Amino acid sequence: MSEFTNQLKAKADIGRLIGEFVALKPGGSGFLGLCPFHGEKSPSFHVHSARQFYYCFGCHAHGDIFQFYMQIRKLSFPEAVEQVAERLGVPVPRQGAGEGDPQRQEQLRIHAAAQSYFERRLAAAEGASARAYLAEREMASAAERFHLGYAPEAGRGLTLHLQAEGYAPELALRAGLCQLRRESGGERPPEAADWTNLYDRFRHRLIFPIADDRGRVIAFGGRALAHDPSGKTPKYLNSPESPLYSKGRVLYNLDRAREAIRQLGYVILVEGYFDCIRVFLAGFENVVASCGTALTAAQIAQVGRLSKKAVINFDPDTAGAAAAERSIGLLLEEGFQMRVVVLEGGLDPDLFVRRQGAAAYGEALKGSRSFFDYLAERARKQFDVRRGEGKVAALNHLLPYLSRVHDPILRQNLAENLAVQLGVETGLLSQELARAARERRAQLPTQTTAATPEMLYAERVILRALAEWAGRRASLGELLEQEELLQGLPSEGLARGLQAAGGGEAGWEEMTAGWAAADRHWLAQALLAPQGEADLTEAELAGALAALRERRAGRTARELQTRIQQAAASGDRAALEALVRQKAALDARRREGAGERSQGAHA
Ligand SMILES: [Zn+2]
Repeated sequence: MSEFTNQLKAKADIGRLIGEFVALKPGGSGFLGLCPFHGEKSPSFHVHSARQFYYCFGCHAHGDIFQFYMQIRKLSFPEAVEQVAERLGVPVPRQGAGEGDPQRQEQLRIHAAAQSYFERRLAAAEGASARAYLAEREMASAAERFHLGYAPEAGRGLTLHLQAEGYAPELALRAGLCQLRRESGGERPPEAADWTNLYDRFRHRLIFPIADDRGRVIAFGGRALAHDPSGKTPKYLNSPESPLYSKGRVLYNLDRAREAIRQLGYVILVEGYFDCIRVFLAGFENVVASCGTALTAAQIAQVGRLSKKAVINFDPDTAGAAAAERSIGLLLEEGFQMRVVVLEGGLDPDLFVRRQGAAAYGEALKGSRSFFDYLAERARKQFDVRRGEGKVAALNHLLPYLSRVHDPILRQNLAENLAVQLGVETGLLSQELARAARERRAQLPTQTTAATPEMLYAERVILRALAEWAGRRASLGELLEQEELLQGLPSEGLARGLQAAGGGEAGWEEMTAGWAAADRHWLAQALLAPQGEADLTEAELAGALAALRERRAGRTARELQTRIQQAAASGDRAALEALVRQKAALDARRREGAGERSQGAHA
C-alpha cells in the first residue's frame, strides 16, 4: 500500500461511495443493503463506516473501497485507485500505484483526438451530407450532446490528422482507426506500419462515439451514408476489438444512462444508436443499446450492478424478435425481472417516438407485458397449439425459459399460466418443468457455501474489544490465553490473529488478507452484527468474560465427571477421592460465581 492509497482511503466515505452503486439503509455499525454480487431478496450486505469495509454474509464478498470498485467494475487495483481518486476529485500522482497502464492511456488519447476530428468534420463544409441525413432523421439537435461526427469520404483525412498530431502509426493501427493498404500487404505486423501505407477505417460515415462507463471514448460506430447496391459496404461498421474495446462488454450510452437506471430502478434495452438517442432525448434517460451485437452476459452483468429490472424494446422485425428471445434467456440467467414492449404499428422506438411523441412512449412503457406472456404469444403463433404435437413443440420451446426463472413461486405461477394458455394439464407441465430444471441444474457449477457455525455472543464481544480497545488489547489477550477462555471456540485462532494484526488498525484488507474465509466471516459478524450499533461497555466485556469462564468451568466439570467414572470403574480409590474433591471445589466456585452474577444483575 502506497502512501497515496492510504490517504485516499482515509478521505473516502465508504458508505457514500458504495451507496452510489447499492441502495443502502442505516443498520448495524454502518449500512445495510442488497448485495450487488449475488442475487438476494433480504439484505445481507453490510458496510462498516468506521472501519471502512464491506462484508456480505450471503456470498462472503468483502473488502475496502478499492476492492469494491475492482469487483463491481471489474478493474485492476491501479484502475480502482484511479477511479476512486477521480470520484473524490483527488489528482492521481504521475508516479506510483495510481498510474494507469501507459498503453491504455495512449489509446484513450488517440480516441479522444479522433472524436474531436470527426466532430469538427461534421460541422465543416464536407459534413453537409451527414448533416442533411441527420436533419432528415430529425436528429440534428442530438449531434452536439452525443458528440456525433462525420468521417470524410476522401479516406485519409483522419490518418493525416493523426500523423500531424504526432501519434505513432502503430498506435493508430492498433486502435482500429486506420488500416493497412491492401497492396502494402495486410499481413504485416502493426510495428511495420508507417503513415504512407495507412488509410482511414471509417469513410463517408456518420460516427457515433462509444464510451466506457466513465464516458471516455474507446471505440466508434459508423453508419454508411451512401447506399451500396452491391451490399459489400456494411450499413454499420464498428471499431475492431482493441486494447480498449471489446464489443461484447460495452453497452452504448451506459455512461449517460447510469444515474437514471439507478434512480428509476430499471433499464430500457433497445437495439440501435438512433433508438437509444431518441428514447434518451424523449426524457427516458435510463436507456442503453447493444448496437448490432447480440446482448452478451458481460453486458448484462454491467447493467445488473445498477438494477435487475429491464424493459426490452427491440425492433419488431424477425431479427429483433429473435434477439429479444435470446436476451430474455440471458437476462433470466442473471436473475433479472423483465417486461417486453411491443410498439403499436410495428414501429421501432426511434420512429414511434418521432410519430407519436414522448408521452405515447411513456404509455407504451407502462403497458409493457410480462416477458412470459410475450413468449407464449409468440409460441402460439409459431406452433399449432390446437394439435397435440403443436402443444408439445410450444412447451419445449418455452420450458427452457421457465426453468431459468430463479424464484420458485414465480416459476410455478408462470407454469400454471402457461398450462392454461396452451390447454395442457398442469400436472404434466410441472413434471416437464421439474425435469428441465434438473437438467439445467446439472449443467451449473455447484455453489458451495462454507458452513459457518454461529458464534457465541460472548465471543463477539471479546473480538470487538480486541479490535476496538487498543489500550486493553495486550492484557485482554493475555487473560484469554491464561484462562484458556476461547479454547475450542470458532474465535480462538481469530482472537490471536487480531492481536497479531494490532487490532486491524491498518485496515480490514491488510489484516484479513491471509485469513481463512471462516475467520473473516466471524470477524465480520463480530464487527457488523446488530449489537455493533452501540459502543461496547465495560459491563458487556465483564459479562462476556464471566460467560466464557462459566463455559470453561462447565467443560472442566464434564471432564472431571468422566474421569471420576473412569476411576470408579478401575477401582483406583486415591485418584477417585482426589477427583471428587476437585469437582466439589469447582462446583462451589461455580455456585459462588452464579451468585455474584445474579447479585450483579440485581444491583
Ligand atoms: Zn453477496
